[in-house]
Amino acid sequence: MSFSAAHVLPTDTKCGRLHGHNWKVEVGIEGKIKEGGVVIDFYDVKLVIADLDHKIILRKSYSEEAITHSNSLKYRINGKIYIFPTEDVVFISDEPTCENIARLIWRRLDKLVSSPKVIEVKVWESEYSWSADKGGQSE
Ligand SMILES: [Zn+2]
Repeated sequence: MSFSAAHVLPTDTKCGRLHGHNWKVEVGIEGKIKEGGVVIDFYDVKLVIADLDHKIILRKSYSEEAITHSNSLKYRINGKIYIFPTEDVVFISDEPTCENIARLIWRRLDKLVSSPKVIEVKVWESEYSWSADKGGQSE
């Protein structure tokens, strides 16, 4: 699976600027094969990242500095002011790092599946950089 999204990591020198990635996601799910021959429908798995595609992922706590103005969001990051259409932003509770995005997807999948078990979510932010979450254990 993959999605395209922008993020900013305010405490990082290089990644403190708004930039984007073509994120690649690998998911490992373990379980019994159900009637129909599948453990889980891949369509359902893909839905957990659908809202992230072509969006700007920001940490929710930064919204304290944000001013919602009609359908726009004024956002101050590292002294720079950005104005985003509200519908283009997805807020998450932690810094939108590769590690935390892997954890977010793992948690969403874990809620989705009951009998099958999510064993790993691996998120690639570039060809060489990835992070994996195994239910609270990041690599
Ligand atoms: Zn990045």
